[in-house]
Amino acid sequence: MIKITLPDGSVKEFAAGITPMDVAKSISEGLARNVISASFNGTTVETVTPLTTDGSLVLFTWNDEGGKKAFWHSTSHVMAQVLEEMYPGIKLTLGPAIANGFYYDVDFEDHKITDADFKKIEDRVLEISRDKHEFKLRPVSKAEALEVYKDNVYKTELISNLEDGTITFCDHSTFTDLCRGGHIPNTGIIKAMKVMSVAGAYWRGDEKNKQLTRVYGVSFPKQKDLTEYLELLEEAKRRDHRKLGKELELFAFSTKVGQGLPLWLPKGAALRDRLEQFLKRAQKKGGYEQVVTPHIGQKELYVTSGHYAKYGADSFQPINTPAEGEEFLLKPMNCPHHCEIYNVRPWSYKDLPKRYAEFGTVYRYEQSGELHGLTRVRGFTQDDAHIFCTPEQLDEEFKKVIDLVLYVFGSLGFENFTAQISLRDKENREKYIGTDENWEKAENAIINAARDKGLNTVVEYGEAAFYGPKLDFMVKDALGRQWQLGTIQVDYNLPERFDLTYKGSDDQLHRPVMIHRAPFGSMERFIAILLEHTAGNFPLWLMPEQAIILSLSEKYEIYAKKVLDLLENHEIRALIDNRNETIGKKIRDAEMQKTPFMLIVGEEEEKNGTISIRRHGQEGKGNITVTIEEFAAIVTEEINKTLKVFTV
Ligand SMILES: [Zn+2]
Ligand SMILES: [Zn+2]
Repeated sequence: MIKITLPDGSVKEFAAGITPMDVAKSISEGLARNVISASFNGTTVETVTPLTTDGSLVLFTWNDEGGKKAFWHSTSHVMAQVLEEMYPGIKLTLGPAIANGFYYDVDFEDHKITDADFKKIEDRVLEISRDKHEFKLRPVSKAEALEVYKDNVYKTELISNLEDGTITFCDHSTFTDLCRGGHIPNTGIIKAMKVMSVAGAYWRGDEKNKQLTRVYGVSFPKQKDLTEYLELLEEAKRRDHRKLGKELELFAFSTKVGQGLPLWLPKGAALRDRLEQFLKRAQKKGGYEQVVTPHIGQKELYVTSGHYAKYGADSFQPINTPAEGEEFLLKPMNCPHHCEIYNVRPWSYKDLPKRYAEFGTVYRYEQSGELHGLTRVRGFTQDDAHIFCTPEQLDEEFKKVIDLVLYVFGSLGFENFTAQISLRDKENREKYIGTDENWEKAENAIINAARDKGLNTVVEYGEAAFYGPKLDFMVKDALGRQWQLGTIQVDYNLPERFDLTYKGSDDQLHRPVMIHRAPFGSMERFIAILLEHTAGNFPLWLMPEQAIILSLSEKYEIYAKKVLDLLENHEIRALIDNRNETIGKKIRDAEMQKTPFMLIVGEEEEKNGTISIRRHGQEGKGNITVTIEEFAAIVTEEINKTLKVFTV
């Protein structure tokens, strides 16, 4: 008999040789119907793999990541079968599952695959799948495997690197592939499949190798799932921050200025400034003090901090002065500068915590191919702050930072998030700077604070920074995509390296603890994500323009100006569209700009001292005519719904 431990901790005994599918059946028929893959002791297995030792078993359905992986990888086998059928003589290489689907890298030799072939491939994949072919793994000897693939240099290379006795083939239908496993029971559950695109990909990702064709695909157990997925992709395209940034005139890039260096246009700069003021106000309440530091620092500063040893070679290289031979680095991080601010004078425990905040612009080299809109750039501004406190204050300070982060998310409409606690890799402790004791203290402080604040947490080993553990907020946007925003990190290391001290109540010098934190992360990335999350319909308090006054004709220009003045008195940001255009055209343009309120003024309005309101995206519905005071009250009420006052 063997003992099988299930994820809920329960242990069941079975005869050796039982399969994951049998275990599923022993739990319930319903579960067995839905199980499509499994992992045993952390390794993916087939649902029909006989289990012969004690161990932990996890059963995957389509709803699990493990299930999707098996589903997609299995579909890549069927797609490979179809590609071989359609393009005889091609050489197959590797076909793994990825985050959203799968790909197969193929050497098409003299064939060419085009968009026009996609439909035919999809139809044939589904046709084969309908016959419910089982995926069967079988061991083969190295010699046999090499013989089968003697005409395929890629598979030969893969097989050469495998040990004899560990090699398996996977058969389904008339097709066989070199594969180590991870399949669904049979092809019958593949009900929808789409070839997404083709792209060039070097064999093994090395540009010295031959360029292959990567065929991307995705598949689903229901046609409806595919339809929804494609709709989501369309919506993501509509919300792409690079597209919206252009349409809303927020930011731009210039090849003359340089790749990955965003230029903020007036509207974008105003938006960014509003976000900064919002956080500065909250931080002031939270006891932070603003500081300002330069964009460069002596190389020695980063040698002291350890950043140079860790990142120096992959960074922008030092800037040299002409006559004095000095070396400066573009600031990759604000922390070393803030340590030196702390070091300007001696501190007593009574002075702590010190909380230094700076919207600090930093520069990091990214390969040009990695750059992407505002989410991967070479220069960006962090909403950075460093808290220097006594070890006794750490727990409380950490909780205060969590409160601030939650306030920021709440004010900006991010409601769905988890807190990822990143700890050391248990195996490779030499990767990290600092003593074991300090690491443990810091790790416990984070775990306790997250628990006390009732955060929904996940723990990731090996994801910590080299200088300390951290807590990252993983936010789900309106399309269900996950982003990392906001980070809080404990650091016992920099205080050591910069010899930071304070005098304790015992009159002795002690080391403060440092917390790095940035609720937005960076202004660039945050605004990109906010753009995609809201599709440009920012919370009203943040909109570049809250209202636009549309005059029905030039006759009402003076009244429009008067309305604008009154709105300014109420601190409502508005513009006038005085162009000699039809009202229809003016409305369409305001809709494009996503301006929340269109205020139409004509003869009636002028006579009565009113405005007619039309809301963005609400074509004719709910249009009302109100006085300026009434409108101001509507705006205030809506702002107060999302923007609360930060309290400590
Ligand atoms: Zn496989
Ligand atoms: Zn820092």
